[in-house]
Amino acid sequence: MRTRGTGRLGAAAGDDSSAGAPRDRYLGARRGMVERIARGGVRDERVLRALNTVPRHRLLPDALGHRAYEIAALPIGEGQTISAPDIVAAMTEALELTGSETVLEIGTGSAYQAAVLSHLAERVISVEVIPSLASRARRALDDLGVSNVIVHLGDGTRGRPNDGPFDAIVVTAGGPEVPQPLLDQLAPGGRLVGPFGPRGEQLLCRFRRLESGEIQREELGVCRFVDLVGDHGWVPA
Ligand code: SAH
Repeated sequence: MRTRGTGRLGAAAGDDSSAGAPRDRYLGARRGMVERIARGGVRDERVLRALNTVPRHRLLPDALGHRAYEIAALPIGEGQTISAPDIVAAMTEALELTGSETVLEIGTGSAYQAAVLSHLAERVISVEVIPSLASRARRALDDLGVSNVIVHLGDGTRGRPNDGPFDAIVVTAGGPEVPQPLLDQLAPGGRLVGPFGPRGEQLLCRFRRLESGEIQREELGVCRFVDLVGDHGWVPA
């Protein structure tokens, strides 16, 4: 299953108003969120610009739109959450994107991370295991006019061997350890960022495939994510 949108996020992104009304009533709130994230240590201007462009309120259930620019994870249904924007920013920065990459994302969820990545990479392939979330994410990305993200339904811990190798991989759910198939699908020089470790508290890690083929591992900090399930993740509770 796959879908494509109709165009990259353009100047009208976030414009949910009719003629005469303000273009985006959340513009100020979104700027405030980005300023807090910058003060928190995210320096990459391209990442900050992408966060300033993506209308996070349009990727949340309607009743939560007014909370979209809080630095918080929020429920999106099916027991899942949209990741907090500061961790999305930190993970995106850690991927070191320059604009030419093909990125694999595991855990589409609300599609917020995917929409942010759409501004920073050539192409994003995102995998979601829960059917209702995958179809809602596709619709949301279409509504935003994002054209360079493909959403697949399936177990992302197996990766997408036929679409790889990938310049960057981001895992947005917490697994016991990094799925080996994902490391195998990392291109030379490629980075994989994700949370791994026990349920309840994981270490955000970056794996880099050196040109020699060797994998280098760095620890970026402690975090807390919903479960990564599947063949190379947790058995669903
Ligand atoms: N990137 C998302 C984060 C959503 S939370 C966002 O920006 O909103 C993590 C998501 O990972 C959930 O939607 C969950 O269903 C999904 N997930 C968990 N295990 C998965 C797997 N094996 N393959 C694909 N998606 C998975």
